Amino acid sequence: MKRIVILGGGESGAGAAVLAKKEGFEVFLSDLSEIKPQYKELLDKYEILWEEKQHSEEKILNADEIIKSPGIPDKAPLIKKLKAQGTPVISEIEFAGRYTNAKMICITGSNGKTTTTTLVYHILKNAGLKVGLAGNIGNSLALQVATESYDYYVIELSSFQLDGMTEFKADIAILLNITPDHLDRYDYNFQNYVDSKFKITQNQTDKDAFIFWENDPVIKAELKKRNINSALYPFAVERTEKSKAFIEQEKFVIKTLKSLFEMPASDLALKGMHNTYNSMAAGLAASIVNVKKENIRQSLQDFQGVEHRLEYVATVRNVIFINDSKATNVNSCWYALQSIKTPVVLILGGTDKGNDYTEIEELVSNKVKGLIFLGVDNSPLHTFFDGKNKNIIDVKSMEDAVKEAYKLASPGDTVLLSPCCASFDLFKNYEDRGCQFKACVRNL
Ligand code: ADP
Repeated sequence: MKRIVILGGGESGAGAAVLAKKEGFEVFLSDLSEIKPQYKELLDKYEILWEEKQHSEEKILNADEIIKSPGIPDKAPLIKKLKAQGTPVISEIEFAGRYTNAKMICITGSNGKTTTTTLVYHILKNAGLKVGLAGNIGNSLALQVATESYDYYVIELSSFQLDGMTEFKADIAILLNITPDHLDRYDYNFQNYVDSKFKITQNQTDKDAFIFWENDPVIKAELKKRNINSALYPFAVERTEKSKAFIEQEKFVIKTLKSLFEMPASDLALKGMHNTYNSMAAGLAASIVNVKKENIRQSLQDFQGVEHRLEYVATVRNVIFINDSKATNVNSCWYALQSIKTPVVLILGGTDKGNDYTEIEELVSNKVKGLIFLGVDNSPLHTFFDGKNKNIIDVKSMEDAVKEAYKLASPGDTVLLSPCCASFDLFKNYEDRGCQFKACVRNL
């Protein structure tokens, strides 16, 4: 019997174990950290052998195939050893893809994945399709393939997940944008990261669709070098002859060979230019699977957005507070600043991944009346911004950040939390940071 070993006992690992067991393999799961109780319960329920806080090599190196959690880097000694001896190492998505005939709608990009994935799911579900949501959000694909019978999956894929995929094919692939991120995992070579993102198109044929942002300089350059077999669905705000989605005369338009869809751009629930792109990508995917126009329209209008992404919190004495805690890189902060029409007090900082703030320099000088640096080590921020803004304040807690921002703001201004950085220096994660922000605002 084929032996499958799963490394990592989180959502994807536990789900992969359940599917592997159901498919009749000999299954073992190993995690170097402690496994969460809910996953232990799941593994026990399916009588799957597991270990935690260790990797027993004698039980791992004898695997016929390894399913690796995207959190474990390829450089980990155990992975190197497995690869050296020729054991295939794949991802949970790759594995799950083998056991379903459902149509796969896959979303990647440096920013906007969760928003777009959730929006596509929202449209398809409201249109009455049997659809599952997977990838970085919700339940793992593998668990759903093992326990549900969906016709469609909408899957958010990070570059780490894509790295572990070889045979998997997206019926509809969406590539939103590519800006430098996670370079530490790609030998500080941007091209490696770009290649990883482009794996979203691998194995596609002319029956499949590739939706992408036409004006992304990196995607553009890459398309000149590559042979993509799929039907192309480029989108852009300013229409070109190739665009399949665009804005024209304040109308949001999706124009494919099969149909023409229009609605007033101002009716889109998601605001900001980046979100217009996300709506275009989602609308294209929905029209490719033949969702009715009235369903697409309704869902683009009533989508509630996703927590911590340009999330409106409250207006306190005419100062608007917006939580964009998920903005963990400079590019997403750029879009947040770009979308706000009032003067801004910007709260930023945290664990800096070697950020270059040049991208937001102009917006900061035009729109931002004060900068609140919220982090254990604010020196990279000072190095860049000192002398460029007259109100710079260092704080070490969210409570102080919100108080100081509120003091600097005048009626009509916006206080924006859009940190450009990871949160781990002062918070558990970006959700914790965003929730603390909202709680502090509500306490003002
Ligand atoms: P991801 O899942 O790729 O991290 P999210 O949807 O969670 O993306 O959004 C992350 C951050 O990026 C948020 O601050 C959001 O406002 C911003 N953002 C969303 N869509 C885009 C886009 N298309 N381009 C740039 N930034 C975006």
